[in-house]
Amino acid sequence: MRPSLNATWFVALALVSLTLAAQSVREREMAQCLAGEIVTWGDGRDRPANKVPLVFVYDHSGAPDWFSEEQVLAAVQRSALAWSACGVPNAVQRFKPESVVPDGAVRVQWSEKNSGGNFAQADLGRGLLAMSPAMFRLLNTRNPAHDARETLQMVISHEMGHHFGLMAHSRRCVDVTSYYDNGKGERCFTRDGILPRPGFEYRATLPTACDIARCIQANSAER
Ligand SMILES: [Zn+2]
Repeated sequence: MRPSLNATWFVALALVSLTLAAQSVREREMAQCLAGEIVTWGDGRDRPANKVPLVFVYDHSGAPDWFSEEQVLAAVQRSALAWSACGVPNAVQRFKPESVVPDGAVRVQWSEKNSGGNFAQADLGRGLLAMSPAMFRLLNTRNPAHDARETLQMVISHEMGHHFGLMAHSRRCVDVTSYYDNGKGERCFTRDGILPRPGFEYRATLPTACDIARCIQANSAER
């Protein structure tokens, strides 16, 4: 073997170890789902998606000024693409007043009423994924330095997860479908046992390896 190749290998290996060391617990949790890590709060029963392919139609009316239509549409597309890893075909469209929304499509909209006082809410019966302009306004007022696009991406991925059939909320803090606590004093879990700092969003912005694994399970069940 030529010495130069040895040197190349050495550098490559050193880089790999450095990269691994630099990866935080949170990043590793996002990338990999270990045995026994799929745990939910038991607040719902996973099942296959309502309609396949799942079609999401984004309507920008009523959105906060600082989100452009392209920005939100791109976020919806990113979440849908990430959830595609679970094998449920889907598509994202832009809402056009003159066109007909496909039967069974999920309307992604801005609506105070339909978001029920949350950042966003999924209504599977009515085929809605509603986001709250007021909650995003509040976020912007309270913490202008915070990147609202991250919250936007997280809430879209979370609510989309319900449309993909994940009805229960995850107990694993990092999952996009997680709830940090169950309202009864029990907390979500992390691999190193350190709980998310208050005010810091520990949840991933896109579905994690465990979210996808659970989605595969949910959609392989009898329809
Ligand atoms: Zn939820």
